[in-house]
Order: sequence, then C-alpha cells, then structure tokens
Amino acid sequence: MLTLNLYNTETRAVGPIVPHEAGKIRMYTCGPTVYHYAHIGNLRTYIMEDVLEKLFRLAGYEVKRAMNITDVGHLTSDADTGEDKMLAGAKREGKTAMEIAKFYTDAFFADCEKLNIKRPEIVVPATSCIDDFIKLISVLFEKGYAYTSGGNVYFDTSKAKDYYRLSGHSAEDLMVGVRDDVTEDANKRNRSDFVLWFTTSKFGEQELRWDSPWGFGYPGWHIECSAISLKYLGEYLDIHAGGVDNIFPHHTNEIAQSEAAIGHEWCKYWFHPRHLNDKSGKMSKSKGGILTVSVLEERGYKPLAYRLFCLQSHYMKQLVFSYESLDNAAAAYDKLLSRVASVRKAAKEYAGEADADETARLTNEFIETVGNDLNTSMGLTLLYDLLKADLDPKTKLAAIANFDSVLSLGLLDAPVEQEEEEGDTSHLEALLIKRAEAKKARDWATADAIRDEVKAAGYMIVDTPEGAKLKKI
Ligand code: AMP
Ligand code: ZN
Repeated sequence: MLTLNLYNTETRAVGPIVPHEAGKIRMYTCGPTVYHYAHIGNLRTYIMEDVLEKLFRLAGYEVKRAMNITDVGHLTSDADTGEDKMLAGAKREGKTAMEIAKFYTDAFFADCEKLNIKRPEIVVPATSCIDDFIKLISVLFEKGYAYTSGGNVYFDTSKAKDYYRLSGHSAEDLMVGVRDDVTEDANKRNRSDFVLWFTTSKFGEQELRWDSPWGFGYPGWHIECSAISLKYLGEYLDIHAGGVDNIFPHHTNEIAQSEAAIGHEWCKYWFHPRHLNDKSGKMSKSKGGILTVSVLEERGYKPLAYRLFCLQSHYMKQLVFSYESLDNAAAAYDKLLSRVASVRKAAKEYAGEADADETARLTNEFIETVGNDLNTSMGLTLLYDLLKADLDPKTKLAAIANFDSVLSLGLLDAPVEQEEEEGDTSHLEALLIKRAEAKKARDWATADAIRDEVKAAGYMIVDTPEGAKLKKI
C-alpha cells in the first residue's frame, strides 16, 4: 500500500500519513452551516477533501469518513458573539430554522452530486446529537475544564495543553487580532475561553433550545464537531479537514475539548485547503450575492468544468475566481471529454485486452504524484501524458478509469459517439441479444435475418471477443 504525503497544519510540514490503524483512514470533515446555499468557495474545500478521500481509496485504504451538518450553534462571528446563523436564515426567509436546515442541506448535497463530490457515509446534523454534546460537556466538568458563568458554560482554555499549537499564534497575537471587532464577554475567565453551552441568559429569542443540566439552551458550535467525531470515529482521528478559516478558533477549540475529554492526543493530521476568493476578496455566505453552482449553470457552465478549475491549482494556494479563468477551464474540459471519447471509441474497436501490469504501473505513478501533497495539477498532467502515450486504447482506458475515480471529472460518463447520441439504438441492442440466443441454438436463419434487419436500420454487427457490437454503416 502506497504512503500518501500531505501538509499538516499542526507540524507545518509535508509528511507521510501514517494512520493509527494500518490501512484504515478515519477522516472528519466540518460540514456546511445550512442557513444558505453553499458558495463555490465552500465547494472548493469539499472538492479537495473529496479528492483526498478518493486518493486514499484508490491507494487501497479503507476510509471511514464523517461530516456534521451545522444546523445550530454557529454564530455570525466564529467567536461567541452575534446571532445564530440558522436564525438569521430563518428570519430572512420567514421560515423555521429546521425548515431552513432541511432546504439548504438538500441543496448542498444536490450541488455535491453535480460536482461529483461523494457524500461521506456518516452525515450527522448537530441537532440530532444534543445528548452527545451534553454528555461530553459533563465529562469536561468532571475533569475540571468547564465552568458556568452568567448562565453559560465555558471551556477554560488556560487548562488546555498547548492551546495555540495548531494555529501557531501566540496568545498575544490573537489579542491584537480580536481587540477591535469582538465585544468582550465579561463572563469569561480568560479571553480565549469559549462557550460550550448557551442558555437563555445570552439569547432569550433562540428558537432551538433543549433542556440540559445547565439550563434550557443550545450548544456551542465547536462542541458539535468534537462530539460527533468522537462518537463515530473514536478517540484516534487520522485526518481532520476544513477550510483555512476553521484553524482558529474552531479547530483549536475542538482540539482543546477533545483532548481534555479523552486525555491523550486526538487528531494527527490537519488538512486545510485555502480559500477561493473573488476579485473583491474572500467569498462569504453572509456577504450576500454569492456565487453558487446554479449561477454557473445558468451562465452555461458545466459544474464539472468548475471541478476541473479547482483541480488545476494546488489546494494550499488561494485561488482567485474569474469568469475568464473559468472559461479556460470549461474549454479545457470539453477538449478533455472529446479526447477521452476518442480513446473510448478506439477501445471499443480494439480486440485485445488491457495490459494489467501497465495499468497498475500508471495508476501507482498517479497515486504517488497526486499523493505528494495532493498535487492535482500534476495528476492532470499525467492524464494528458497518458492521452498522448503510445499505448493500446484498452490500457489507456483502464488507467483513465482509475485516475478518474479520484479526479471525478465524469470522463467515462459522456456518450462516446455522436451518432449514438443522436439515434436511440436500444431496439437494436435487444436484437443483438436475440441474435446471440439464436446463434447459441444454432438457429442460423434467425441470426441472419436479425443481421439483415440491423443492416436495414443502418448498422453493421461486429463480432468481438466481448460479444457483438453495433457499428454505424
Ligand atoms: P460554512 O458553511 O461557513 O460552515 O463553511 C463550510 C466550509 O467551507 C468550511 O470548511 C469553511 O472553512 C469553508 N469555506 C468558507 N469560505 C470559504 C472560501 N471562500 N473558500 C473555500 N472554503 C471556504
Ligand atoms: Zn467543525
């Protein structure tokens, strides 16, 4: 099994991913806050996470991946100030928070499907895990990390081991960062403490509230991911993923809570794709006027052209979106589809078999190349090299299929030949089956009659080792 290398935010270096359990990757992804459509920036992050998961699978690892759906607790500031984003969404649309959550969760997965982003097998809405949050907060109380103040429950960051190690900030840096725009919460013992459980003392208007030992209220955002990850993926997490904005405070706080509860190191590798910006700066749902997959479709772009656009650059670099660069990606995408279609057509007519050793060699080269810190653009270069290579079309096609199990550009989904696209040949395919049966029964008269009928419809029957095929005359 090949080892993959990745940049780890915590060690600030590219290094090998060695899972806690050999051959098995446990991966957690911070899911969307479902108060609005996902913008194409959010989706860049999910595309890169999807590529990472699929690369591990192609390399032969078993992957267990969980993702939360943030449907409560994420306030309009990532710190503990502002209004719950879900309630802001509900107010905006005159619906309940749960109606908003359902609508935008479905919209998120519909976008993922269009972009060939695989749904993690474990997807958990935060509101379905309130008991788990309460249990985890209780453990933090038992272990002396949690305190109540002014009606809310806080995490005491002064007790966390090396609290700033993920972001690499010093406490002083962050003080400077937050001083101007965050109203101080006088209930906190330390400035970096954060809320585990809010009660009515803070937001009396909150629509989503539950009973807890500390009062009627709702969970903080950070506790969601710790509790869901620990519940579904256990105490040893291999990879935790999320956009770069999640490093501080969200992931920093997740580490503090999780490690306080379990008493040992929790997650080994932190994967943080950089942002997609538009020319005016970072894309953000709260800014309004966001760029979605539907907007791209309305403008005539195939969603997978956007996926290609993302794969063309490295996930650790900020990517600036412009329609001009998307136009280039869209043209490259159409060209790629047509080049792969020619290989597929040639493969159909090729009587030989794919060379299994060569396919494995090409696939391993792809895994090693992309597995060098998720170098998707080099993976695309390998794909172009393969298309040009002096190789039989069946071997090419087998390797393309493996590459595309990671790139997921739908290279093998499009119709192969224009002619087939234009005419429905399903009735002729049915005749081919009848002919095969007739030949098996040595009923040559029927077999010949079918051949004539197919010819009259404008197709020749070509017998190949894989069975009879239609070829337009
Ligand atoms: P949210 O729905 O706001 O919780 O964000 C969902 C995911 O998108 C998180 O992993 C964020 O870190 C990520 N994200 C937010 N803004 C951007 C952006 N402009 N570009 C890329 N990823 C982003
Ligand atoms: Zn999270």
